[in-house]
Amino acid sequence: MKKIAILGSTGSIGTQSLDVARKHGYEVCSLVAGSNVKLLEEQIREFKPKTAAVMDKAAGKALKTAVADTDTVVTFGREAVVELAAENDADTVINAIVGIAGLQPTLAAVEAKKDIALANKETLVTGGELVKKAIKENGVKLLPVDSEHSAIFQCLQGAPEGSLKSILLTASGGPFFGKTRDELKNVTVAQALKHPNWSMGAKITIDSASLMNKGLEVIEAVHLFDVDVDDITVVVHRQSIIHSAVEFRDGAVIAQLGTPDMRLPIQYALTYPERSDCQAERLDLFKVGSMTFEKPDTDTFRCLPACIKAIREGGLKPAAVNGANEMAVKLFLEGRIGFLQIGDIVEAALEHQPKVSDFTLDDILEADKAARNLALKFI
Ligand code: NDP
Repeated sequence: MKKIAILGSTGSIGTQSLDVARKHGYEVCSLVAGSNVKLLEEQIREFKPKTAAVMDKAAGKALKTAVADTDTVVTFGREAVVELAAENDADTVINAIVGIAGLQPTLAAVEAKKDIALANKETLVTGGELVKKAIKENGVKLLPVDSEHSAIFQCLQGAPEGSLKSILLTASGGPFFGKTRDELKNVTVAQALKHPNWSMGAKITIDSASLMNKGLEVIEAVHLFDVDVDDITVVVHRQSIIHSAVEFRDGAVIAQLGTPDMRLPIQYALTYPERSDCQAERLDLFKVGSMTFEKPDTDTFRCLPACIKAIREGGLKPAAVNGANEMAVKLFLEGRIGFLQIGDIVEAALEHQPKVSDFTLDDILEADKAARNLALKFI
């Protein structure tokens, strides 16, 4: 029986991971959340994990009281989250935390020799080199959960080494596809949160609207598949049926298709290399009818080219654009900046971050902090 731990169990990916666990009867050893005591309590009562951790201390204390009648041991605080990522009985840790907060738990889990099912793209965006090194040293598997990366990973099964030529990374285009900068000036938070195809957490939904999400995914793909950034083409595909494709040296293109439902990539990361029945609706191509493919508008949606530039220049630039974006999204959701300022902030952080070649985890966290402070100046 598969044993799993879920970091970020109360979020969109976390709850869908629990759906998959419920269906397969996986043992859920540990759960982690940020502050949602009510939902975490429900999850603890249903899945009876040995341990649970909450990032927010007050929420952690409340949870401890709420589940005092169960056998689950509750810890809280940032360090407790990182500790639990390593110290659990699971063989696979699903990291579904949002933001750079997921980086240290990923590293801790890898160092504890756990396989990682990775949804938290910010882990690879900010700490790609460190994580890859740790994965290699500890001989564990890194299984992508992000739908595009899972698609690429699936397309590459059985591909001989050296046969991959390029990656076609699909993008829905988000709720503002086709809009001009002028039309985007006064868009509201509610409009930005209305994704046409996917139901996701608030941060990634805003990232999808700004195309920052696609930029983060380009960086994630560079790390996961060891490709040059110039060998990745972003293709706007409004229907979100083709989750991405790969082009081989001989010109053959192989794509992975499916209905937009994250339970499929989550399940594949957990059953890999096996496949089993999934709860997601099956794809009906007659219902889809037709599919479209367009170029992204990088003059309007500037986060995407900023991320491409960041990974091309390397060093701490990806961490800087990520940190700036995390703060910018927070400020936008709080109504303190406009939608277009997200791109301005990301571009400013990219320029502001000096070029470096050697860096440590502390340097990444420093670059993240500096970028967040820079973002605050835009209020
Ligand atoms: P959500 O906001 O829905 O959930 C985030 C989860 O992380 C929640 O459980 C939250 O707890 C927890 N959390 C937040 N901050 C911390 C912290 N500092 N320490 C511990 N736990 C924390 O996000 P999503 O599920 O949408 O996304 C999660 C990750 O997966 C992101 O990196 C996203 O980019 C990626 N992803 C998501 C997809 C999706 O369909 N949603 C698709 C592909 C990738 P609480 O609820 O208590 O706040």
